[in-house]
Amino acid sequence: MNFISTRGKTAGIGFIDTVLMGLADDGGLLIPNEIPHISAARLKEMESLSYQDLAYEVFSYYTNNEIPDEDLKDLIRQSYATFRDPEVTPVKKLTDNMYVMELFHGPTFAFKDVALQFLGNLYAYVSKKQNEIIHILGATSGDTGASAIEGVRGKEGIRICILHPHQKVSRVQELQMTTVDDENVLNLSVEGTFDDCQRIIKDLFADVPFKTKYHLRAINSINFVRILAQTVYYFYAYFRVQKDKPGAKVNFSVPTGNFGDIFAGYLAKRMGLPVNKLILATNENNILERFVLEGVYRPGEFKSTHSPSMDIQVASNFERYLYYLLGENPQQAAAYMEGFKTDGVITIAPELLSRVQADFAAHGVGGEECLATIGSYYREHGYLLDPHTACGVAAYEKCSPAEEVCVTLSTAHPAKFNESIELVGIEQTYPQPIQDLFAKPQHQEIVDSSVEEIVRRLESFYTK
Ligand SMILES: *Cc1c(COP(=O)(O)O)cnc(C)c1O
Repeated sequence: MNFISTRGKTAGIGFIDTVLMGLADDGGLLIPNEIPHISAARLKEMESLSYQDLAYEVFSYYTNNEIPDEDLKDLIRQSYATFRDPEVTPVKKLTDNMYVMELFHGPTFAFKDVALQFLGNLYAYVSKKQNEIIHILGATSGDTGASAIEGVRGKEGIRICILHPHQKVSRVQELQMTTVDDENVLNLSVEGTFDDCQRIIKDLFADVPFKTKYHLRAINSINFVRILAQTVYYFYAYFRVQKDKPGAKVNFSVPTGNFGDIFAGYLAKRMGLPVNKLILATNENNILERFVLEGVYRPGEFKSTHSPSMDIQVASNFERYLYYLLGENPQQAAAYMEGFKTDGVITIAPELLSRVQADFAAHGVGGEECLATIGSYYREHGYLLDPHTACGVAAYEKCSPAEEVCVTLSTAHPAKFNESIELVGIEQTYPQPIQDLFAKPQHQEIVDSSVEEIVRRLESFYTK
């Protein structure tokens, strides 16, 4: 196993180099040169594995023997020891044919911990092996930053700087990032929008001398290891449902913005897991819904919604799926992406669209519909959904036939998004770790949205 780019000009990359590279050098995304296939007999044997053993099994197909078995097991054990639930991602049954998989039992109460706890430990491992300091640099609209900081705080050989838009993340998200007092963490609160933050990061990563001098590394969801870590829980949920309902057809409803979480489900399916439909749940920023329904991928106007972590117009992981849709043809994938850059749209032929619709259903959930879903599940099932999960549940209701079973991925704890929960008139009690944040001092530097200013702050942080 090695890794290649969707655009065909980068190939033969090992697992660790894939993690370090992030974006492929030719501008494409890294993918395995061949998707490993797990036989039905082997799947049967995997059914009763613990989450950690399952993760070890799934990762082993991809790690190219670059990490000794005992080290890999250790990294996995460490990464999931920080989760509050012994099952890591427990699956709860809400109605006869509907389950919710809770992905929010990690340190920052959002699903990104599942991948970033592992990535943080892996970066620390690589830093030690290669004897070099790793500088992680990223922008966040809220969840990724908190989760990435939590993944590496206090770790030797790593410094992390996260840019977030000043006062444009939820209160809990801000506190999760800025109450961390470890020396290796720098929070820059940028006077501007998330797009400004992202633009600055892009400029810095494009500055090759700067990038090389400081060993800059990325943490965003284009990193293949994030997809890989998320693939594990599809297996886990599928096996739990089979135990409860042997032989059931299983759909997954996935709240998604960057096409990251749902691509992990697609990968699990390609590996041989008998996933039926993948239901793509979005909010009013519904570019991906329109792609699945009409075969047209065209960014629309940005809208702020109750589910801000899915307020995304250009889905950074979409290119991975496009590559497979086009029959694993890198020349075609590169041509489609080139066309997208010049025309701002990708339109696929009807026969390709029917292939998309064989794997995916989709629903873009409106603001009122999202809040109504939170209200009705609270009243009728005594279960409080966060607004992202509520989009997943609304999409399940619309797209999953009554005779099929569906697992909705719950991507965040409702306490992270109390601003929306209050709108439904529900009062929640915060879990203790979140309640405790309100009494802690904050550490952040408020800065202008200029590249020069950020470079100045970074250089003083890196030479501290
Ligand atoms: C990041 C995030 C999502 C979307 O994940 P993708 O990787 O874009 O699919 C959904 N819900 C929450 C709570 C998130 O933080």
